[in-house]
Amino acid sequence: MKTIGLIGGMSWESTADYYREINEGVKQALGGLHSAKIALFSVDFEPVEKLQHQGDWQGAAAVLADAARRVEAAGADCVLICTNTMHKAARDVEQAVSIPLLHIADATAQELALHGVKKVGLLGTAFTMEQDFYKGRLQQLHGLDVMVPGEHDRKIVHDIIYQELCLGQLREPSKAHYLRIIDALAKQGAQAVILGCTEIGLLVKQADTQVMLFDTTVIHARKAVQWALS
Ligand code: GLU
Repeated sequence: MKTIGLIGGMSWESTADYYREINEGVKQALGGLHSAKIALFSVDFEPVEKLQHQGDWQGAAAVLADAARRVEAAGADCVLICTNTMHKAARDVEQAVSIPLLHIADATAQELALHGVKKVGLLGTAFTMEQDFYKGRLQQLHGLDVMVPGEHDRKIVHDIIYQELCLGQLREPSKAHYLRIIDALAKQGAQAVILGCTEIGLLVKQADTQVMLFDTTVIHARKAVQWALS
């Protein structure tokens, strides 16, 4: 079994899910007392979030590159960035280490392809929903037709992530907003919706809606298990 490297803490609420999901996956595959070999470096999210919202992506990328080096030094054979948004720094992370990066958008696109989904809704931070590093990658590299909510709803989705979900607050009115927005995307023709922020799955579950959901935390964690055991 190879060692999975995790850059976590963005937020730790979802990193905890990665840790559980990866260990469950290894336990399921190997049985007995088997558990995953993981090297985790968890950052302090407050300064990273400040850099994001100030538009200092180079500063945020430097924090992640440093974390990636620490994960490699701890013996990891691959590295995962445990957030969709900070894949904006994917190239800097790749350049900082000699181990491969398992990209969350690629893992998600592969899963969508397995289910025959071509037209998909995307929920995440404004950065993820609007910028090329994520939405563009799904479109250009994977040929997906990606739909995002309108500006007003994008702001609702974004604000709930930073003001509630990353603080571990799960509120019914916010869940109702998300379900309404998911429904609207489906009515506009989305075959499925990507939960493209690693905390959304804490609030919205597949059982809450008829619309097919793709939870990036679960998909990314399973990809890591598959990779570690291959
Ligand atoms: N975890 C979130 C994501 O998947 C948002 C937090 C962040 O800005 O990294 O995008």
